[in-house]
Amino acid sequence: MGLKHRHNYESVVSTLKASERHYLQAAHAGATSVALIYPNLYSLGMSNLGFLTVHRLTASVPGIGVERFFPALEAETPLPPPFYSFETGRPLGDFNILMFSFSYEGDFDKIPGLFAALGLPVIAEQRNRHHPLLIAGGAAVASNAPALSKIFDILVPGEAETTVVPILNQLQTDGFDPAAVSAIKGVWVPAIQPLPPQLCGLHDVNRQPAWSHIVSNCNAFGGAHIIEVMRGCPRVCSFCLARCIYSPVRAVDAAVIEEWLNQHPDCKDLGLVAPSLFDHPQVERIFSMLVERGVRIRNSSVKWEKLTPPIIGALRKSGISSLTIAPETGSERLRREMHKPLDEARFLERVKELFAQGFEHLKMYFVACLPGEEHDDLDATITLIEKVARQASGTSSVSAAFSIFVPKNHTPWAELQAPGSYEIKKTMKYLKEQLNRLPGSLKVSFESPQEAMRQAYLSRVGPELAEIYAREAQECRENQLFARNQFSALEF
Ligand code: SF4
Repeated sequence: MGLKHRHNYESVVSTLKASERHYLQAAHAGATSVALIYPNLYSLGMSNLGFLTVHRLTASVPGIGVERFFPALEAETPLPPPFYSFETGRPLGDFNILMFSFSYEGDFDKIPGLFAALGLPVIAEQRNRHHPLLIAGGAAVASNAPALSKIFDILVPGEAETTVVPILNQLQTDGFDPAAVSAIKGVWVPAIQPLPPQLCGLHDVNRQPAWSHIVSNCNAFGGAHIIEVMRGCPRVCSFCLARCIYSPVRAVDAAVIEEWLNQHPDCKDLGLVAPSLFDHPQVERIFSMLVERGVRIRNSSVKWEKLTPPIIGALRKSGISSLTIAPETGSERLRREMHKPLDEARFLERVKELFAQGFEHLKMYFVACLPGEEHDDLDATITLIEKVARQASGTSSVSAAFSIFVPKNHTPWAELQAPGSYEIKKTMKYLKEQLNRLPGSLKVSFESPQEAMRQAYLSRVGPELAEIYAREAQECRENQLFARNQFSALEF
């Protein structure tokens, strides 16, 4: 790293460090050193309770020094190599263990560039005891562990709380003994086991809920504390990965959240995390408790049918003026098939009430290119958006965001065909043309077709990904592609 670059890097790191509040101290030095890598932006890593939980658990193991690493500290500015840790600026190549947290499959694409810059062979069999031990976990590993099975020494499709400490204790005691590590429930050592373990959540969320022991002002919750209030979802939407990998459903009791608040009296702003927050059996109690304590609520998308007067009152008192709802499609037939019913008349009535109650913006999420989707289904979606947009008055507005259907492993729709490039482009073109004709201030956004196809490929690909990434890493090294911040050349 040149002097100028090093100076810029240190200046960004020190600004980000100044934005952080730490509620637990982690040792940076120890007999075993672990670099915990979030292969995406700093702001996303610091909003991710999986990554933060692994950091907290790793730091709890005596003898371990742990530091964070982000290949991109800010948007549009990935780091050129060599790579240094966030905490002390230690070269990444110096660590005993590199632990990756993959929250979505698209981040797999950071592997060739990172490995190439570190001089690490991508294929596990080609590494030796002088190389660091490579571990990967996170939602994307739970979704598609076989894709990484020839790259990483240890994969963790199971939950961090029941695996990270036993793995590290085992490594500290006996070094890497594949048989002993593979005996830990939820852990996969592909070199000696042909298949990944069955997914089964074992962690008691009431004994130890996931929370942000480091709060960064740059996190996606506007600098709020973050706590997980429910793991899993009681609903059965056919396309949904979250409900499958976080099964069984476990709600954190309101009393546990109250106790956590007592221990964090400075918390005046709290992000509530759950795949389906409004299905928490005590959601009203939690909201009113937060309002009584003067804690601002931050939440993700709402379930319109669960917006009772007390919940609406709490949201308004929290200063929330914008709501996000996910109807997924306007087609009743497709909603039935995906097991996500919606009574359209009641939904529109509720939207009208929400605008009347002072909510200013409604964002709706839709999925395009659903299995069996026909022209009539797209027209039904356009009609639904039009009806919602007509409810908005002069001061309120509506937006619609379209993602593209990607079949995910473990879900009932896992075996269905992903839409191809032609189908995606044709559908997008039609939706854009029709939605552009709608009157008013409707804003519409679409996921990039290339990104959707990349996701679909990485969600399904198997162990052959190692060979593909090894070739890319080779190309990266030969052409110094990582210096141009190009992590992967996979084209879609
Ligand atoms: S899409 Fe939402 S409501 Fe449906 S199962 Fe997934 S988390 Fe639950």
